[in-house]
Amino acid sequence: MKTIGLIGGMSWESTVTYYEEINRLIQKKLGGLHSAKILMFSIDFAELAAYQENDEWEKAAEMMNEAAQRLEKGGAEILLICANTMHKALPYMTEVRLPVLHIAEATAAKLIADNVTKVGLLGTKYTMLQDFYKEKIENAGIEVLIPESEAVEEVNRIIYDELCCGIRKESSKETLLNEIGKFKERGARGVILGCTELDLLVEQKDSCIPVYDTTLIHAQAAAEEALKED
Ligand code: GLU
Repeated sequence: MKTIGLIGGMSWESTVTYYEEINRLIQKKLGGLHSAKILMFSIDFAELAAYQENDEWEKAAEMMNEAAQRLEKGGAEILLICANTMHKALPYMTEVRLPVLHIAEATAAKLIADNVTKVGLLGTKYTMLQDFYKEKIENAGIEVLIPESEAVEEVNRIIYDELCCGIRKESSKETLLNEIGKFKERGARGVILGCTELDLLVEQKDSCIPVYDTTLIHAQAAAEEALKED
């Protein structure tokens, strides 16, 4: 079994899900007392969020570079950035030699397998508005819808001011479900929860269209890769 390196803490609320889900999948696959081999470097999210807000992506990427190098030195063989947004840093992470499992590529593979050709995307404003993430889905031939600009700001606020601080509000859940309803009206056949905290509020049973939970998809990709024979 390969050792999985996790860059976590973005936010720690969602890193908990990664740790649980990867272990759950490995145990399910191997049975008995088996569990995953995991190294984690969990950053201080306040430092990172400030760089994001100030558009200092090279500094944010430097934090990722440093974390990746620590994990590599510790013996990690696969790297996961446990967030959607920070995949924006990948082009700057030139010193990283570990294979990186890209969260949007893993999600695109799932959408293709399900024949979904039009999908809604919820995430941080960076993930929804910029190309670094959407292009991975669009390059797979899938049309990506995002909310209108006011809703983009509100979803972003819910992520940073509430979910990343451990706050779960019923009113915010309704906002997210309302946006998912609008995606359905616009013809989407699924919704990408393109932020690793969104599944803390929205589950498949709440949604009128299939939910693509990037935290679970990414964790699953990691467990599969860890067990793959080279
Ligand atoms: N966890 C989030 C994501 O998946 C947002 C926090 C961050 O900016 O990294 O994008």
